[in-house]
Amino acid sequence: MIIMMNTPTTGQVNRVMDKLRQLGLDGHSITTADKTIITASGDLSACNPDLYERMPGVDKVVIVAKPYKLASREFQQHNTIVTVGTASFGGENIPVIAGPCAIESYKQLQQAAASAKEAGAAMLRGGAYKPRSSPYSFQGLEKDGLEIIRTVGQEVGLPVVSEVTDPRKVELIAQHVDMLQIGTRNMQNFVLLKEVALAKKPVLLKRGLAATIEEWLMAAEYIMSGGNDQIVLCERGIRTYETYTRNTLDLSAVPVIKHISHLPVIVDPSHGTGSWRWVSPMAKAAVAAGADGLLIEMHPCPEEALSDGPQSLTPGNFAQLMEELDKLTAALGRTVNKKEK
Ligand code: PEP
Ligand code: MN
Repeated sequence: MIIMMNTPTTGQVNRVMDKLRQLGLDGHSITTADKTIITASGDLSACNPDLYERMPGVDKVVIVAKPYKLASREFQQHNTIVTVGTASFGGENIPVIAGPCAIESYKQLQQAAASAKEAGAAMLRGGAYKPRSSPYSFQGLEKDGLEIIRTVGQEVGLPVVSEVTDPRKVELIAQHVDMLQIGTRNMQNFVLLKEVALAKKPVLLKRGLAATIEEWLMAAEYIMSGGNDQIVLCERGIRTYETYTRNTLDLSAVPVIKHISHLPVIVDPSHGTGSWRWVSPMAKAAVAAGADGLLIEMHPCPEEALSDGPQSLTPGNFAQLMEELDKLTAALGRTVNKKEK
C-alpha cells in the first residue's frame, strides 16, 4: 500500500506511521519538496485504504500488490520522463548514448565524442572505473578519466554518463557526470544503490547478468525508496547456455517492463551480444520492441581498444546505424536524435 500526502505536517505523517504500526505494518516514508510518500508493507489483508484516505494530510492511497511499489505502473500510470541535460528518456524521442567502453585518453574520448555528436548521439559514455572480470585487465583511468569525460562532454556539448562501482566514489563521480551508471555486476549491491539514491543525479540501472525482471525492479525500488526517482533501466543481456553471443539479449524485457513499470527502459546491444556484427540488428530490434533509448559502444579504433574492442562499432558503423534508426523510428512514429545540419 502506498499513502501519498501533499505537503503534510510532521504530526500528520507521524499519525499515519503510528496507525500503520498499530496494525502491525511497516511504514517507510520519503519526503520530497512538495510531498511525502509512505510505503506500507506487511500483512495488508485486513487493511482498509478508506481508513487512511480520511486521515488529515492524506491525498490518495493506492494498493500495490507487487513487491516493487514505487516502480510499479499501479503506483504511477503515466510514463516517467528522465531528463539528463539535453536528453530525455521515456518520451517520443529515443536518445542514443554512445562512446567507448573505457576512457583511455583525452584524444581517444575526444575523437569518439566528435563522431558520436556528428552522427546524432544524445549522450556520451565512457568508463573511468572499470569492473573487469580479470584483475589483470585495464581497470580504467579513475579520477583522470572523470576529468577527461567532463571536459570532453562540455567541449562537444553532450551530457555524460559513467559507471560507479564503489559507494565511497559516488560523490566524486557525481561531481563529474550528468548520470550515474550502475553496472550489471552491481545491480544488487544494495549499499551502492542506497548511496546513489542520495546523489541527486539520474541513474542508469543495468539489469544484473542473472537477474529476473522482478529483481531488477526491486533494485530500482531501493533507489526510489531512498528518494531518487530518476531511473532509466537498461537491458544488457543475461547469462544463458548460449555461447555464440556473449550474453542473451532479452528484448522481451522491454514490453514487459513497459507494461508493469512507468520507468523508461533502454537497451545495450553491445554487451548484450559481445560482437559488433550483431549490434546494429539488435539495436533496431530493440527500437521495434519499444525501447526508450540505446547504449552503443563505439571506439575510434576498436582494434586498439583497451576494453571491449570486439563489440565496439567504428564511427562509420555508428553513423550508418543512426541513419537506419532515423528511417525506422520515422516508421514507428518516434524520432532518434538527428545530425546537426
Ligand atoms: C559497461 O557499460 O561498460 C559495462 C561494464 O556494462 P555491463 O555492466 O552491462 O557489463
Ligand atoms: Mn564495455
